[in-house]
Amino acid sequence: MTVPSSLSLQNVAVIGAGTMGIGIAQVAANAGLHVQLFDMNAQVLQQSVTALTVRLRKRVEQGKADAKSTEETLSRLHVVDNLAALTSADLVIEAVAEKLSVKQAIFSELEGICRENTIFASNTSSLSITAIASVLKRPERMAGLHFFNPAPVMKLVEVIRGLDTAENVIECLKKLTLAFNKIPVICRSTPGFIVNRVARPFYAETLRALEEQVGTPATLDSVIRDAGGFSMGPLQLTDLIGHDVNYAVTESVFQAFGYDPRFQTSFAQLALVQAGYLGRKSGRGFYPYSSDNHDDHNKSSSEIEVTPTVVLSHPLNVKAFGNWQIFPELKQLLQQNGISIEEAEQKTRQPPSLVVNDVIIILTNGELTSTLAQKLKQPVVQFDLSANYVAATTIVISCATQNSHQQNQDAIAFFQSIGKRVIVLPDYPALLTLRTVAMLCNEALDVVNKGIASAQDSDLAMRFGVNYPKGPLAWGAQIGWAHILQTLEHLAHFYGDGRYRPNPLLRQLAAGFQSLSLEALP
Ligand code: NAD
Repeated sequence: MTVPSSLSLQNVAVIGAGTMGIGIAQVAANAGLHVQLFDMNAQVLQQSVTALTVRLRKRVEQGKADAKSTEETLSRLHVVDNLAALTSADLVIEAVAEKLSVKQAIFSELEGICRENTIFASNTSSLSITAIASVLKRPERMAGLHFFNPAPVMKLVEVIRGLDTAENVIECLKKLTLAFNKIPVICRSTPGFIVNRVARPFYAETLRALEEQVGTPATLDSVIRDAGGFSMGPLQLTDLIGHDVNYAVTESVFQAFGYDPRFQTSFAQLALVQAGYLGRKSGRGFYPYSSDNHDDHNKSSSEIEVTPTVVLSHPLNVKAFGNWQIFPELKQLLQQNGISIEEAEQKTRQPPSLVVNDVIIILTNGELTSTLAQKLKQPVVQFDLSANYVAATTIVISCATQNSHQQNQDAIAFFQSIGKRVIVLPDYPALLTLRTVAMLCNEALDVVNKGIASAQDSDLAMRFGVNYPKGPLAWGAQIGWAHILQTLEHLAHFYGDGRYRPNPLLRQLAAGFQSLSLEALP
């Protein structure tokens, strides 16, 4: 199909002036395009434009934006009161209610109004682009253009290919996204696209840990945030997103994948939805919120189960073994604390471990700490994964039930001596950050294995769509695919259900039969 080149795209129409539509209109106008904005609700349309105008002019008053360019941006935004006014649109971006029949009706009508080569794009979060395009005479002109909320702030845009989408439509939208100063990732239309699918385990693993009484919400969030290195804990984040919205996304992906246990919904979250405790917006979710107190999160920090400072009457004898190349910052931290490291050859992939007096301290691999102690016939403490062990304020450990109290105190005292706050979880296999990251890797590998998106785009999507500290695949490659595989195999064995079954591509990577191309990541 002949489409306008992205450079010649001048006129964009945005349908729907709600949360997403007005944000997308702002992005397009800011990039120099003429934007026509339509909403079936004239009041919403006017209110959205007025609110945007007030917001942008306030930024000028605050010295945060230039007056001339702000007025130019606003002058490129035109309100229209019917679809028939969109005859000159080069591209139509639809951001109306998430209902297939509504979106299909809009595009069917537009096909009789717009030029033959006008590109049609939907901002849908969960509907199939192929299904939306199925009502069109020219389905090759239709693609997904999935912005994240808030559209003017979030860097990522998923460019989604339906079954019939023309290649030059994808190319044009990719270039346009770059012109918007955003990061495009290309994916095939499948449930959840990249971000809303790969992110499911981020919520699911912590929700499972909560149901299994591993810790309080504040403790579990702290494990993922303060030790793991994610910007927010999953419970804190779902409180912000809204449990109705987050639960509905999980449920739709769960259903779309034929109720695969990988995407199992959580009863703990369902209960919140049923009670109307939808999170921040309704004053209560996993945490209570008050309208006059913006510091609720700090209040809940007193509920984080941190181990008190241990005072020892004997010295600690510490040695480090194994391959520390995989965690260079932790190696540096140990060396700064005068700990000698007997480095294993990198190719042996022997996991990093420490011996503190007679206690072996090792990165968890999904095996119960007590099982490992039984095998090794020695006291064992396992520690959890972190995106950056130096930046993390907290370290998370679990202790074998066979250890003496003193042995556990020695391990805790050691981590406190290198400046870490210590959270001791029960003997929970793969603790919380490693099990979450292993599952994120498994899901991202499924996306790659099925040709839905490239490895690079999967990682970019997770870094810029949901601000993960590392792309799951780059993170998995760093830890070692064999370690990720071992973790999932232990979890699969422990739970005995299909949720943790390793992806076929993971098995190939762990065996060294395949490799991923991740070099060009920024
Ligand atoms: P919203 O409810 O804030 O806005 C939707 C707007 O569409 C409303 O103003 C409504 O009046 C208008 N509308 C409904 N039917 C219409 C029709 N037939 N013709 C013209 N206008 C119509 O919704 P939103 O949050 O902006 O979501 C819009 C789309 O973007 C949905 O497909 C949603 O899945 C997707 N999305 C939402 C988010 C998010 O975080 N809110 C993020 C990414 C994508």
